[in-house]
Amino acid sequence: MKGSRILVVEDEEKITDIVKAYLEREGFKVGTAATGQEALEGLKDGVDLIILDLMLPDIAGEDICRAIREDSDVPIIMLTAKSEEEDRIRGLGIGADDYVVKPFSPRELVARVKALLRRTKGLKKTISFNQGDLRIDAARFEVTKGGKPVVLTPTEFKLLLNLAERPGQVFTRLQLVNAILGYDFEGYDRTIDAHIKNIRHKIEDDPRAPSYIKTVYGIGYRFIGSPDEN
Ligand code: CA
Repeated sequence: MKGSRILVVEDEEKITDIVKAYLEREGFKVGTAATGQEALEGLKDGVDLIILDLMLPDIAGEDICRAIREDSDVPIIMLTAKSEEEDRIRGLGIGADDYVVKPFSPRELVARVKALLRRTKGLKKTISFNQGDLRIDAARFEVTKGGKPVVLTPTEFKLLLNLAERPGQVFTRLQLVNAILGYDFEGYDRTIDAHIKNIRHKIEDDPRAPSYIKTVYGIGYRFIGSPDEN
């Protein structure tokens, strides 16, 4: 979690300075933006979490939030002076993950940042391989190959994810059965072969010369896709 990049969007310099200092003390990398325009610019560099003030001089925080949500799942904590329940609910309705009401304690904000990063870390995970050729979205159970959606059965998805999360590692058929079907699975471990065959037909350009799931003769399988950065 240390080193996570946080963008603080707030036009009140005093608040920005305090929040930045507290976050940096915890080892976060902090960028700041004083306007909505700057915020949208700052996002292009890639951030792990956004602290977004609702009241900004140019663009309303709600609108920035909506704009961000059009193409990003980045966690957002809203800072709001509006304390009415309605506004809070609306804040979450437009895609904020959490909100903090002003005046707030910086310590509490830092705690919320950490909690949200923990909560979203495993959830919004997309892993991709071979320059984006194969993408696996673990939260949405979605897979794309060459930008096109691939329809996998739940078992196929679990099997692929299990292999792809540990590129290079060799799994025996029994390990895979246990990992995806559970210990009470009554089938023969060669069932895995049938699933692998189906997955290959869906994600490999040439299922006979796979570039993702390789057979390790006499043992099992290994994922050989090359993970993309981030
Ligand atoms: Ca403000």
